[in-house]
Amino acid sequence: MGSMTFVQNSELFSYSGTNCVRNDYYHNECQLCVDICPERAFHIVRSKLTLFSSECIECAACIGSCPTEALSIKSFDPNAYTTSFKEEDDKLLSCKKTTSCLGSFDSHHYITMALTSNESPICDMAHCKECSLNTNGKIESFIREEIKKTMDFLTACDSEYSISIQEEKPEDENAKRALFKAAFTKVKEAVQEEDEQESIGITLEYQKASGFTGLPLKFLNLKKAIRDNISKLPKTTHDTNFGIFANKEISFKDCTNCGDCVNFCPTEALLKTTDKQGINFNVGNCISCGICNHICKTDAIKTTGGIDLVNFAYDRGTELVHYEMVMCHECRCPYPYRGGDPICDRCADFRVDFSHVFTLAKDM
Ligand code: SF4
Ligand code: SF4
Ligand code: SF4
Repeated sequence: MGSMTFVQNSELFSYSGTNCVRNDYYHNECQLCVDICPERAFHIVRSKLTLFSSECIECAACIGSCPTEALSIKSFDPNAYTTSFKEEDDKLLSCKKTTSCLGSFDSHHYITMALTSNESPICDMAHCKECSLNTNGKIESFIREEIKKTMDFLTACDSEYSISIQEEKPEDENAKRALFKAAFTKVKEAVQEEDEQESIGITLEYQKASGFTGLPLKFLNLKKAIRDNISKLPKTTHDTNFGIFANKEISFKDCTNCGDCVNFCPTEALLKTTDKQGINFNVGNCISCGICNHICKTDAIKTTGGIDLVNFAYDRGTELVHYEMVMCHECRCPYPYRGGDPICDRCADFRVDFSHVFTLAKDM
């Protein structure tokens, strides 16, 4: 078996195949980054994502769209920016000032910024319409959608913090623009001098410090922000998931306790109960990849609305299904009992699949 390089780079931009959810499950069809890229730098080749590095213009507009943080750029780290946002004097997020394209953030980052800084972030959208990256309007739509999710969430939680949009260009625009350009060029020069093998120090250091376990860092940051600031969210239970969270339910009648969903869940949001007779779900680890829904042969697992923020922030699991084990009267093996004749699925299937053999034997 040949080895495979899972990291693809342009000069500053990086795609990590090991973090891409397409590589967790053959049938996953995520292509959020493909859809948003203004230069068509991503292609799906034999079902896998490939970066055509010569096409990438390193605009960072795709980074926030990736649910699993498979995309990064050396010149700007949205997670580092998010966690230091509380120290920023100016709460304006602007690609002309201190951030890269706002497409590098999503609602997880915005909510974390609002909660940890005790101030409402302001998003500079005054340049989107004329931006050369925004030719098909997809980047602007994505940014507005993530801001809207954040607004809806904070409002529904009765939070005193929100997020706002600046639609008009400020008067001192040119001076700030020149400042940002100078700063960005400096970063670019510094990065070019780095050893190719050296990764983004601030991200890796930060990940180590936060006890990174495989969950995207923006999730870990959001969980911590909610835990530390739960008093700023007076309402913690909701019957919608805001397009940010994902709840699950499993039908007792349809689940065969096969464990496929547990085995394929990339973030251990689904786990067998300690007695192996049930399935627990941790909403704080679910990245809404949809793999469990797709892999379940009996369609027993579904995504539902609603979120309990305490469960999310404190990793409180809920038991989705639990079975009593009984002995199958055909094969004498224990199996999860769901009512009716005490016969396991394997023996029941066997009876159906080989019914013609039994008929022939009986007729002889
Ligand atoms: S958005 Fe992320 S997970 Fe989805 S295909 Fe792109 S790199 Fe993979
Ligand atoms: S929900 Fe589906 S995939 Fe998961 S254990 Fe039950 S039958 Fe298997
Ligand atoms: S539980 Fe969530 S993270 Fe796990 S496979 Fe299902 S959708 Fe993906």
